[in-house]
Amino acid sequence: MTAAAPIETDVAIIGAGPIGLFAVFELGLLDLKCHLVDILDRPGGQCTELYPEKPIYDIPGLPIVTGQELTNRLLEQVKPFNPQFHFNEMATGLEKLADGRWKLSTDAGTTLIVPVVVIAGGAGSFVPKRPPIPGIEVFENAGDGVGVHYAVRKMENFRGKNILIAGGGDSALDWTINLAPLAKSLTLVHHRDGFRAAQHSVNQMRELEAAGKIKFHVASVKALHGEAGKLASVTLAGADKSEWHHETDAFLPFFGLTIKLGPIAEFGIHLNENLIPVDTAKFESQTLGIFAIGDINTYPGKLKLILSGFHEAALMSQAAFHIVRPNEKLRFQYTTSSSSLQKKLGVS
Ligand SMILES: Cc1cc2nc3c(=O)[nH]c(=O)nc-3n(C[C@H](O)[C@H](O)[C@H](O)COP(=O)(O)OP(=O)(O)OC[C@H]3O[C@@H](n4cnc5c(N)ncnc54)[C@H](O)[C@@H]3O)c2cc1C
Repeated sequence: MTAAAPIETDVAIIGAGPIGLFAVFELGLLDLKCHLVDILDRPGGQCTELYPEKPIYDIPGLPIVTGQELTNRLLEQVKPFNPQFHFNEMATGLEKLADGRWKLSTDAGTTLIVPVVVIAGGAGSFVPKRPPIPGIEVFENAGDGVGVHYAVRKMENFRGKNILIAGGGDSALDWTINLAPLAKSLTLVHHRDGFRAAQHSVNQMRELEAAGKIKFHVASVKALHGEAGKLASVTLAGADKSEWHHETDAFLPFFGLTIKLGPIAEFGIHLNENLIPVDTAKFESQTLGIFAIGDINTYPGKLKLILSGFHEAALMSQAAFHIVRPNEKLRFQYTTSSSSLQKKLGVS
């Protein structure tokens, strides 16, 4: 990991879920520029990770919209403000600087220097489930394209490698299909001959198997072998309890995700049962300059609904403006009638 030069901007948003996305819009109307950090590889938070195809019926003005469609619409709405996304990155550190600004760091070496941090982290970060294989931690983060990886941050790292993928969901099948052309060899294992993934992905995987481009076994990984953290092989166990040795450079288990509050708990912000208490005028935490909106905050009467988070984003933005631009006046304007807002939106 190489640390990039620090990025100075107006607002850092932790979480690109629906509320983090709408915050970009509200802040953008006030000319505040945003960078968003999310540990996931795409925007949408719970909407795209947990229920992309389920209909939501209580978004004002959209009688029925799926989690994915709502995310797509929010992305379209924030486009004029050109938000910068840092996906596959965990916000891990928050530090106050001598000049009063905040330094937010990620596990990928990104540093954001900002007067305002907005925590829109929902229930926390989605973290991959670690399979119960003894000693697996020793092989994690062993290097680019080798050892155990729970996400593919850069496909090119896996070029020319012997890859073993385990799992039966969309991630396991998608990465089987995407990495097959780059890999020296690719083997997929799943504990049964049936998949939870989209049917077209299953069909594509079966075609690759029939063409001899990948191997598929009904099997589970029982043990990992290697020296000094360098993975060399695994023991596979078949449904009939037979066991065999399989040589591999990389092992990619895709066994789903769990949600954990994660590093936000270590930021030194006052928490109440893993939620951030806020005032309902500004949605600011008890630490000046740190706001919390969406599912991660708590206040009397809080409802964990998307529409509540949208309202919170609007009020937060007004308060954040006064911190970022202390010497400027804020004028309340409607998007329907303000030509300056319409100009920012690129509609006039
Ligand atoms: C099955 C289901 C159905 C639902 N149906 C409805 C409904 O019909 N109507 C409704 O209003 N609500 C519904 N909800 C609730 C709704 O999805 C949430 O209220 C909403 O997603 C909250 O948005 P958010 O942006 O606050 O958080 P999230 O959507 O949880 O997004 C938070 C994001 O922050 C990221 N993150 C957290 N910590 C870090 C960190 N340290 N570093 C990097 N990234 C981090 C996470 O990866 C995540 O992407 C439903 C929820 C579920 C699970």
